Amino acid sequence: MIIEDELTSAPLYRDVMRSLESSARIMNANKNVIERLRLPRRAIRVSIPVRMDDDRIQIFSGFRVQHNHTLGPFKGGIRYHPQVNMGEVAGLAALMTFKNSLLGLPLGGAKGGVQVDPAALSKSEIESLTRRFTSELSPFIGSDKDIPAPDVGTNEETMAWMLDTYALETGYSQMGIVTGKPIEIGGSQGRLSSTGLGLVHTMEKALEVKDTSIDRATIAIQGFGKVGLHACIEAHALGARVVAVSDISGAIYNPRGLNITDLIRYKDENRFIKDYPNAEPITNGELLELDVDVLAPCALDGVINEKNMHSIQAKIIAEGANGPTTFESSRYLNQKGVLVVPDILANGGGVVVSYFEWVQDVGWLFWTEKEVRTRLRNIMHGTFDKVWRLSEDPLFTDINKKNGKDLRLISMVSSLHRLEKAMKLRGQAW
Ligand code: NAD
Repeated sequence: MIIEDELTSAPLYRDVMRSLESSARIMNANKNVIERLRLPRRAIRVSIPVRMDDDRIQIFSGFRVQHNHTLGPFKGGIRYHPQVNMGEVAGLAALMTFKNSLLGLPLGGAKGGVQVDPAALSKSEIESLTRRFTSELSPFIGSDKDIPAPDVGTNEETMAWMLDTYALETGYSQMGIVTGKPIEIGGSQGRLSSTGLGLVHTMEKALEVKDTSIDRATIAIQGFGKVGLHACIEAHALGARVVAVSDISGAIYNPRGLNITDLIRYKDENRFIKDYPNAEPITNGELLELDVDVLAPCALDGVINEKNMHSIQAKIIAEGANGPTTFESSRYLNQKGVLVVPDILANGGGVVVSYFEWVQDVGWLFWTEKEVRTRLRNIMHGTFDKVWRLSEDPLFTDINKKNGKDLRLISMVSSLHRLEKAMKLRGQAW
């Protein structure tokens, strides 16, 4: 039995459920469908003993939550972070179900995590931890069961170790067991930049509906990791002025626009962006409050909340991270006229190219980077257009008047329509 209290104690899980419930109310969704989506199908908790470099054994807690697989195999990333817990992972897993449904992918939703600060471990300790975690999960994952991918604190290398450990456990190589792995062992062209690129495609569309364009936009990006860094590169390439970025070490600002190539070189040499010479240092909080066209939070959840929502000046918020804007602050900002492009739409590019990677692995036939980028662009633009069209449905006329166009609500309704149909067809609800 999954302990509901443990899940609802996590703010992210509560916010995802509030979003589910308000969209269900608007579309008068089938009660049995919603009842089934409120709790994940399976939640796995494991302890992971690791022999540390000083010969001590340290035990870490690991989680994998499989939320729903009505539309296809479970799919979602693995997070290494000290604050990971079951509730947060369950909220993120549910978001994956709704994201995959919205994007039209044949995939369900899952998420995993280990409570660990990867920066405090040596490479061999992280490898041992990853291999043991994969062994513990191996009865539950597989290329047609549940397919992990990188998230905060994990990367291509983590996926390569997972793939290798799974092959040792099962006795044969299955390239589609994980996505986001190196190209040499079945990874896809374009996966590294996919979430950032997809995010920029939704910015293009959001700017268009605000009667402007990306080459005239100013952008601030929180987080300079897998999502934020590539969003910077892709936005800059399309002519946007990226005026501020941040990472865990702090934030930097240059109103004339940052030189992204030079900044990446600096980060590669110094690990963090702190003290970058060609910009002025600001705090992470100040970055969120800058007067820019687009603010893209690409780090962790809950960073835009009831404390700072009154100071947000951006015209568009493009959620690169999962759950960066709390339910309350998202509603408040909508009412103020800020266009919030929600996570399940804005950061969908990562799972779209993960899906492409999986298709290529299963078919043993690989695509060029151009093919990947073109298909990604079509899905991201197409999904934004679908949500925008739905926002003009009479169902939303009164709500739009009262609250402004709430793209989180509208995206959830679109996602739920598909899930509801599929669940009824499969006899999971009636
Ligand atoms: P990452 O670990 O590669 O990068 C995270 C970045 O955030 C780093 O630059 C880190 O320094 C920075 N950061 C951490 N704490 C911070 C703080 N308090 N203030 C400012 N910056 C801080 O992680 P990622 O893969 O880029 O994921 C970021 C977010 O995007 C997460 O919410 C994740 O779930 C979501 N996401 C990731 C993917 C993907 O493909 N990686 C796909 C969809 C969504």
